[in-house]
Amino acid sequence: MSIHSKDENKNPTQFSRRSFLARSLAAASASPLLIDGWSRTASAALDPAKAPQINAGFVAPQYYDKHEEESLIDVLEEGSPFRFYGQGKAVKVKEFEEGFANYMGAPYALAVTSGTTALNSAITGLGIGPGDEVIVPAYTWWSDYTCVVHAGALPVFADIDESMCLDPQSFEKAITPRTKAVIAVHLLGGPCDMDPIMDIAKKKGIAVLEDCAQCVGGSYHGKKLGTIGDVGIYSFQLHKMISSGEGGAVVTGNPLIYERACRFHNMGGFDELFKNRIGKTQLSNFAGENYRMNEFTGAVLWAQLPKLDTMIRDMRRNAEAVRDGIKDLPGIKKRKRPDPQGDIGYAVYIETKSKEQCDQFLAELRKRKVPCSRLTGSVLLPVAESVMQKQTRHPNWPSFTSPEGKAIEYGPDTCRQTLDIYDRFVQIRIGPKYTDEMNDWIIAGVREVYSQLT
Ligand SMILES: *Cc1c(COP(=O)(O)O)cnc(C)c1O
Repeated sequence: MSIHSKDENKNPTQFSRRSFLARSLAAASASPLLIDGWSRTASAALDPAKAPQINAGFVAPQYYDKHEEESLIDVLEEGSPFRFYGQGKAVKVKEFEEGFANYMGAPYALAVTSGTTALNSAITGLGIGPGDEVIVPAYTWWSDYTCVVHAGALPVFADIDESMCLDPQSFEKAITPRTKAVIAVHLLGGPCDMDPIMDIAKKKGIAVLEDCAQCVGGSYHGKKLGTIGDVGIYSFQLHKMISSGEGGAVVTGNPLIYERACRFHNMGGFDELFKNRIGKTQLSNFAGENYRMNEFTGAVLWAQLPKLDTMIRDMRRNAEAVRDGIKDLPGIKKRKRPDPQGDIGYAVYIETKSKEQCDQFLAELRKRKVPCSRLTGSVLLPVAESVMQKQTRHPNWPSFTSPEGKAIEYGPDTCRQTLDIYDRFVQIRIGPKYTDEMNDWIIAGVREVYSQLT
């Protein structure tokens, strides 16, 4: 809550969207653009006391309604919380899987307990193991690193570029004769530049795992993310799009990858349901895990799936409004977007020239109550202490005991470009339920702050 009471700061004139925008536009064009710094004299025209409360919130719960409720009650009434059988019907996870595969345009989907366990299943599906190297972006979530380590393979980092996602050139440079796969992470609601990534991977015979946890429902050149490479994974954790609190999925068009992933997620066994989907089995039982999704989780996701396009439409509308409102600012640089149509509108990104300028930009936006931060939701992995120290659950863990594992060095010198991008980008979160007034407030705030720097 603001410390100012609303009455105290009441504007005698009615707040008008048009006059408000006109005022901030005038402010932006009137102030001279300074070549190397901030105008110390410019004063805030936006009165923070009048700021609307802008909070993007968690996406999925903003769409919960009677559909999730009724679906959960179905499971209780059937008395069948386990996905494969029970007292009554157990169909939620199965139907969610089929709906999800259909939505993505993928032949096969497997529901699991999280995005992390989806990654472990997908890496297993690709047949990755000790001696193999997997290329991982230097800025992403822990699980993209841990899935490689848990397979006993060696994680090798590549930089991100101004798309916030894997830099295809850096990916190519990181390839060695031992490289078996690359994890292309569609980070922060935007797709990777998949064409060059796929070209390089095909040329070198490297498998592509798409991590779509932060871009569920996004696309690239008309194809849903997760269906371009060999295998795709998704997360349904609270911070993502459709959500059941925790949950994940794997999609693929390759029956062998699917069989291996299904087996791994279910103690190495192969349920009849999956056998029916792929026709014939190619593997025998092996030591797996239990990553099975339960019916309550499946019930919520089953009800959420039909709302995914609405969530994306709402977020994109607000993101486009904000982008439109700042696009004429002279020299403004935003995030590189390999396919603007495929972005889900998670946030709007502005590039600054230096860490100092970024800090100032953020401080000035915060004064104006514009929701902003540095990039969020991931880790600068090569400079994380446990990564630099190559800590594993056992000292003889195979990832780092090979000559290559012993020789590899992590740390800031291995990811300079990523650190630089992290330091210079401003993130402005977009909520699916922002009003026009909120979008306009953000636009006016950015314009005013931008007008004071170059
Ligand atoms: C959240 C996330 C994951 C892991 O998903 P969980 O469901 O939290 O295990 C993996 N990759 C990325 C990029 C993520 O953002």
